[in-house]
Amino acid sequence: MSDLVKARSSNEFRYYLLVTGCEVCGVGPWDLVSVDGQPTPHQPRCAQVTCQHCKANREMKFVSEFEPPDPDSPCISPIDQPSEIIDVDLWLGLAYWLIGQADRESGPESHQHQIRASLCLAEALKFYNEDDEAPPAEAFFTELTTRAFTEHPQSFARQRVRDLAAKLPPPPPWPPGPAD
Ligand SMILES: [Zn+2]
Repeated sequence: MSDLVKARSSNEFRYYLLVTGCEVCGVGPWDLVSVDGQPTPHQPRCAQVTCQHCKANREMKFVSEFEPPDPDSPCISPIDQPSEIIDVDLWLGLAYWLIGQADRESGPESHQHQIRASLCLAEALKFYNEDDEAPPAEAFFTELTTRAFTEHPQSFARQRVRDLAAKLPPPPPWPPGPAD
């Protein structure tokens, strides 16, 4: 595992913890316990994390390239380039999980989960090149997710992802603020 996790934002780092297995028990995910320092772009920070499954503790170093000026913003990344730490399969998995959360709740909570799901789908769609219906091989970072694609290519059809996104509120734009 690389020493420094290159996130676009603290929000992306939190999603990364949710989709990253624990090297002690092989399960995970990780809970964020604390982070030192202020959310400053390009400034490496240390996060203390605990495995939800086996309670192992570890430290993770991460850097966030951008930070939304509003700390409560659910936005993940202001740029068109796809994530370097969460692949297309994991973004789709996060979106389905958030849609499930939204379905279990109602009112503003449910809406917030839908917005988050919409942002995750937008991240997944960033991996598709031009008019391609399928994501390229580089959109899968591990053997496990590559196998998911080989076994269920239809789950990754771009139109299918777009149709799902169309049922959700549009992803909010990156909030305006002072230039980084
Ligand atoms: Zn564990």
